Amino acid sequence: MELDLLSIAAHPDDTELTCGGTIIKMAEAGYKVGLLDLTAGESGTRGSAAQREKEAAKASRVMGIAHRENLGLPDAAIENVRDYKLRLAQKIRDLRPRTVILPYWEGRHPDHYTTGRLGYEACFLAGLAKLPLEGRPHRPYKIIYASFYVPAVRPTFVVDITAQLGKKLKAILCYSSQFSPRQDLQNLFPARADLRERVGSLARHFGLMVGVRYGEPFVTREVAAVDDIVAMPVRSI
Ligand SMILES: [Zn+2]
Repeated sequence: MELDLLSIAAHPDDTELTCGGTIIKMAEAGYKVGLLDLTAGESGTRGSAAQREKEAAKASRVMGIAHRENLGLPDAAIENVRDYKLRLAQKIRDLRPRTVILPYWEGRHPDHYTTGRLGYEACFLAGLAKLPLEGRPHRPYKIIYASFYVPAVRPTFVVDITAQLGKKLKAILCYSSQFSPRQDLQNLFPARADLRERVGSLARHFGLMVGVRYGEPFVTREVAAVDDIVAMPVRSI
């Protein structure tokens, strides 16, 4: 398989929440888009692994992606160890993505930031010829980090998802086990009714940064190149 874009995330529903609009936009543009969830989310407070698998399949159909699979690592126990790195590197060789989306490398949940680091190292290892892996070496050309979960981080760029926000919300709502019927005190499992406002207001915040209605933020470690400074988007004053 030769994917144009692969999103690697710790739990089913992470990609939908952090960069689902961008995933949908790229699928709509005709790119071959895949998702790789590292765990089945079986340690989550709500929902069994089997339930979340069904929900993920439903969300995939909403997003229109070409491929999705689960690496089966233990939930709430993702560690940056060689075994996991090699398993992930093998998947990267199998799927051969041009661009990879990883979770931002810092955050509240250890699985999220560990996936960011593990993912980067696996992308590197996938390109080494002499490792005990099958298939031809492959290294993604581009790695970008989804930072929707860490709004304090200033994004490198924002993708306009104004036209995709409705579908993004629809995909998130496929994970019905993750939403409480009413507001809970810790605020970790938003009530269904609150979700639209939460996701929408964050997307609005990022959209404002680039002069569009709704946006999703990303960070890159490298600098972006510009060819035409006359046609550059995003108003300065
Ligand atoms: Zn998660």
